[in-house]
Amino acid sequence: MTYQTANISIEKSESTKINSVDFSKLDFGKVFTDHMFVCDFENGEWQEPKIMPYQAMTFEPSARVFHYGQAVFEGMKAYKDHEGKVFLFRPKQNFERINKSAERLSMPAFPENYFFEGLEELLKLDNDWIKPGLGNSLYIRPFVIATEPAISASPASMYRFMIICSPAQSYYNSPVRVLVAEHYSRSANGGVGAAKAAGNYAAQFYPTSLAQKEGFHQIIWTDADTHTYLEEAGTMNVFFRVNDTLITAPVSDRILDGITRKSIIQLAEDLGIKCDVRPVKVEEIKKAAKDGSLKEVFGAGTAAVISEISAFQHKEELFEISGAEDSYAKLFKQTLLNIQYNVSEDKHGWRRAVK
Ligand SMILES: *Cc1c(COP(=O)(O)O)cnc(C)c1O
Repeated sequence: MTYQTANISIEKSESTKINSVDFSKLDFGKVFTDHMFVCDFENGEWQEPKIMPYQAMTFEPSARVFHYGQAVFEGMKAYKDHEGKVFLFRPKQNFERINKSAERLSMPAFPENYFFEGLEELLKLDNDWIKPGLGNSLYIRPFVIATEPAISASPASMYRFMIICSPAQSYYNSPVRVLVAEHYSRSANGGVGAAKAAGNYAAQFYPTSLAQKEGFHQIIWTDADTHTYLEEAGTMNVFFRVNDTLITAPVSDRILDGITRKSIIQLAEDLGIKCDVRPVKVEEIKKAAKDGSLKEVFGAGTAAVISEISAFQHKEELFEISGAEDSYAKLFKQTLLNIQYNVSEDKHGWRRAVK
């Protein structure tokens, strides 16, 4: 069946894969819903957006994305409450950020009405894939790639914007052990660290795999210049709790402006928890770990919401973090989940209902 909304042409899938999916055993990002959103940029403008059955696509081998990595993405989620209402969490932030990332990679901005109409229609079609209950969600992956078949090293004139969706489950995640970077860096001043650029991730895989061989799950990235400041944990922003004060690094060219991070900073203010946004020295955190004032360390990002860090190693020295009885990590996670799942009041207007 095909039909048309204000801006989008929709081809509905004739069947659904949903019955073949075991929602109690989901591997993150492996199963995709029945539909996807696609919009091409050609002749200097975005063409008519389409929703179609999720399917493989063909590209010329010379498509620029394969050669120069001109690709950016977003990660967001849809949540369902117990009455079956679906919500997004601060989606305007994702929309603005993908265009900021695109600008840094010399790619055209995507129109806001297409982004939100596309999302709404997609979520309507694949509504059954969003399961209610804390921890169940639909992970949404908008992304843009350079499709122009030409391998000269310059920005492309053709792009494809897409949204694909994958059911996810992430209520509980066990604490992780991290290694503080001393040699490798994920970003540099003037670089692309603040953009959700595909290449940032590719560049992290190798150093992370080395850390994994040493028994760590992730790397805490430090500043590229001196490796003396703690910046991000894997692909998450990172918070430290020293006594009862939270500390997190300010966003910059090198640090991604995470939506979970900024929500936690706001919630801390609401809850009367002091949160210092300032550069965080490796040495001060080691000292705090030694004298017992380091209570918690946690990563913050859409995928896991909050990921507790139970140990970190720096220059062969290992520090275990015992965790606090009145865990801030758990408090922030629960507070965020309650807002996301329409359980609690949303005084900042972060939820956006999907009609
Ligand atoms: C996506 C991402 C984050 C987290 O951002 P959220 O908006 O909270 O999901 C943090 N750091 C990096 C490097 C990221 O790519």
